[in-house]
Amino acid sequence: MDPQAPTQRGGLGQAYQGGDYVQAPGNGNTQHLLSEDVFKKQFGNQRRVTKPYYRRKTYVCYQLKLLRGPKIAKGYFRNKKKRHAEIRFIDKINSLGLDQDQSYEITCYVTWSPCATCACKLIKFTRKFPNLSLRIFVSRLYYHWFRQNQQGLRQLWASSIPVVVMGYQEFADCWENFADNRGNPFQSWEKLTEYSKGIKRRLQKILEPLKLNGLEDAMGNLKLGSVDLG
Ligand SMILES: [Zn+2]
Repeated sequence: MDPQAPTQRGGLGQAYQGGDYVQAPGNGNTQHLLSEDVFKKQFGNQRRVTKPYYRRKTYVCYQLKLLRGPKIAKGYFRNKKKRHAEIRFIDKINSLGLDQDQSYEITCYVTWSPCATCACKLIKFTRKFPNLSLRIFVSRLYYHWFRQNQQGLRQLWASSIPVVVMGYQEFADCWENFADNRGNPFQSWEKLTEYSKGIKRRLQKILEPLKLNGLEDAMGNLKLGSVDLG
């Protein structure tokens, strides 16, 4: 099964080219948010797309803030031809000229977990910024039966970049912060939690070899509760 097999394009229109913006704290800018339709179709964690078919792409929603400080930037990217959304995200953060003496944290919500190449690039990127902590919440695992992608996920964890499967709370946080929600609370889709649990179990299996390397405690201690996107 190929979860990203091109099916007929539908519903998304041509207007979404991805976007980002730098937001001054509290200016209430609602531009460049995911539409409700795109959010539900792209972040949906169902095992497969039902009719009418559409293609599930990679969307990276990110928020950068000073550690225990104000929000600096937020936005989203989606895949472009030959340029994965993760790479566009890295380019963006690099372009901001972060101060090496400050501590930052970035939270990402991603529709598909990073491919092996992007995992590698993300690791290299964070090495350049020792005071930056990056964590990635994913809706679905991308070609998780490929050994390279499995290895990529393990390497991310081993490089202190936790990749965690989204559950109800993370979908709600993502909806709250990155979707044009018009003030409406997040509404779960059918079997959201059931699908999420299945994907979490799969990821646990992929990460099992890490336990041998003593990373189990780190994984257990990671706070996976509500995210402070302040
Ligand atoms: Zn990639």
